[in-house]
Amino acid sequence: MAGCVVNPRAGRETEFTKAAPQGLEGRYAVVGGGPAGMSTALELAKRGATVDLYEAQEKLGGQFLLAHQIPGKEEFAETLRYYQHELDRHGVRIHLGTRFEPTDVGAAQDKGDPFKAVAWCAGIRPRVPSIPGNDLPIAVPYDKVLTGEVEVGQRVALIGAGGIGFDVADFLSHPHGEETVDGFRKSWGIDGTLEHDGGLIEPQRPSNGRTLYLLQRKEGKPGKGLGKTTGWIHRLTLRFRGVKAIPGVTYKAIEPTGLRIEVGDKEQFLELDNVVFCSGQLSNNEPVAALEATGIPVTVIGGAKVAYGIDAERAIREGFEWARSL
Ligand SMILES: Cc1cc2nc3c(=O)[nH]c(=O)nc-3n(C[C@H](O)[C@H](O)[C@H](O)COP(=O)(O)OP(=O)(O)OC[C@H]3O[C@@H](n4cnc5c(N)ncnc54)[C@H](O)[C@@H]3O)c2cc1C
Repeated sequence: MAGCVVNPRAGRETEFTKAAPQGLEGRYAVVGGGPAGMSTALELAKRGATVDLYEAQEKLGGQFLLAHQIPGKEEFAETLRYYQHELDRHGVRIHLGTRFEPTDVGAAQDKGDPFKAVAWCAGIRPRVPSIPGNDLPIAVPYDKVLTGEVEVGQRVALIGAGGIGFDVADFLSHPHGEETVDGFRKSWGIDGTLEHDGGLIEPQRPSNGRTLYLLQRKEGKPGKGLGKTTGWIHRLTLRFRGVKAIPGVTYKAIEPTGLRIEVGDKEQFLELDNVVFCSGQLSNNEPVAALEATGIPVTVIGGAKVAYGIDAERAIREGFEWARSL
């Protein structure tokens, strides 16, 4: 079925009316300002509820802020702009730099302004694989690389070749200038002047000089699970840039100067400046039990509910559907 990442009604217009049903009363706390929290808060507010949206960071967006650092995903910034605008327009009270704690439920009650329910949309964090040496300074999770908190060196191995591994490999191998129309044409061999036969020229594929390894434990072609329509582009792009994709890897140890691996019974040592973990995510749901113990109804939405396979489409849809279900 055709659908839309940011519009959960797309393709389901007869199931969900355009105008949000009115008359939802009371005050709701939405914890987390990622896609799940923004979508939940917006729909609750559209229905008439009073909504407080709490975000621990100084900006809304959650992991979507990382996604829009990836070449080709810059337009996600527009989704964030849309939400910021709509949340303001519908009167959602946004509390940035505010980490919500279970004790906030009792505090609101004591002030005589209790919450009716809490939507827990606290998202995900990178999983650190249990490899000896995973706490060495050369080892970093993908979020620190994409935020720029850690600047990686010229020789990097990425552990995990799923969607995030491919995106981080793209980010780290991207040659300066390829994001322009002219740069894109040159790299794919498209003749912008229309003077050459077939509209083709010899592709120019500059490198940014970084040596990159994209490693996965599974046997089989890395990137096999990427989207059907765009996966081939990502695989080809990284191949053109000389990224070495290696399947069937057993991780032996991270060492101060590199990574020891085994591939097909052969031990190898990759000399590296950094090892980046792109090896899955964990749900941020530890405080949920304490929250439930306060007696308030709690609903867990998005990556906080199930980290595996989470994307913005599911996070946004779940928030919307829950708010519509009340
Ligand atoms: C590199 C990369 C590329 C991606 N590309 C795509 C893509 O192309 N398409 C797609 O659909 N998805 C993509 N995603 C995935 C998408 O960004 C995530 O699935 C989505 O952001 C998950 O939404 P969420 O709201 O559940 O969680 P998150 O985005 O993790 O948001 C949770 C928020 O809750 C906040 N928080 C946590 N605890 C508290 C607390 N106690 N109090 C207050 N705030 C709290 C966090 O600070 C965070 O802002 C990508 C992700 C990455 C990293």
